[in-house]
Amino acid sequence: MDKIYIRNLEFIGYHGVFEEEKKLGQKFLISLELDTELREAGIEDNIEKTIHYGYVAKTIEKVFFSKKYDLIESLGEDIAREVLKNYKYIEKIKLEIKKPWAPVGIILEDVSIVIERKWNTVYLSLGSNMGNKKENLEKAIFNISQLADTYVTKKSEIIETEPFGYKEQDVFLNACIEIKTLLYPKELLYKLLEIEKNMGRERKIKWGPRIIDLDIIFYNKEIIEEEDLIVPHPYMEYRDFVLKPLEEIKPYFVHPLLNKRISTLRKELENNETKI
Ligand code: ATP
Ligand code: CA
Ligand code: CA
Repeated sequence: MDKIYIRNLEFIGYHGVFEEEKKLGQKFLISLELDTELREAGIEDNIEKTIHYGYVAKTIEKVFFSKKYDLIESLGEDIAREVLKNYKYIEKIKLEIKKPWAPVGIILEDVSIVIERKWNTVYLSLGSNMGNKKENLEKAIFNISQLADTYVTKKSEIIETEPFGYKEQDVFLNACIEIKTLLYPKELLYKLLEIEKNMGRERKIKWGPRIIDLDIIFYNKEIIEEEDLIVPHPYMEYRDFVLKPLEEIKPYFVHPLLNKRISTLRKELENNETKI
């Protein structure tokens, strides 16, 4: 990945937890490392294909003076978010904020924080087998599209599938979507559980009837093994109701643990008895 650097943008600001910092102000130095693809802009000599760093600097200035932050951590979050949301060619940002005059009572060169933030590509599986199922799926997709710092970028067709596990229930409608989000995996999970709850989901029977079920199938290529979040979703390769809509939107995505494409996993499932 190519990089653009902006080093030591200098501002006098009033951020800090101490009274004197808010009153007297101090110097802040902000540096950025932006991951972007510069090849096309370079070949074409075309500013439209790259990032105008003058504008980026202005965006930072705007956030910097928008309020008095207690923490440079919080200022950093807001700058990273604004830059990622306003400049579509930036995939990742590394940001350093230095306070050379930090009032710690000892001589020092500077105090600084460094954060890295990026767009994450996530695949979600959706299912419903109660009420107006189609409307439930559509409403859930709409609610996901309304989440902060999240865009729905692809949607599969809605398919009808037979129930698995607990068979004495109505057929399901299923779909998959691709989203781009700045939310971390757990943050996204909690938001999805909240959407399920707000839509009236109750958990009674394992794999029983539900108004809406929202599962994280992939989060980039990350492997997560926490108590309340396992990614890639552990049963996805046994479920045609996940693989079929996923194949439609991302057939060549390679499963980071199984090391196989979605289309391959689906073919293998067709020839296999282990379906859950
Ligand atoms: P299954 O996970 O087999 O599809 P389910 O979707 O019916 O079953 P739920 O009752 O919806 O299971 O979820 C139970 C818990 O699973 C959630 O509260 C969540 O903490 C956890 N969980 C673990 N990994 C994931 C994941 N990848 N996506 C969504 N939830 C997950
Ligand atoms: Ca599920
Ligand atoms: Ca679930």
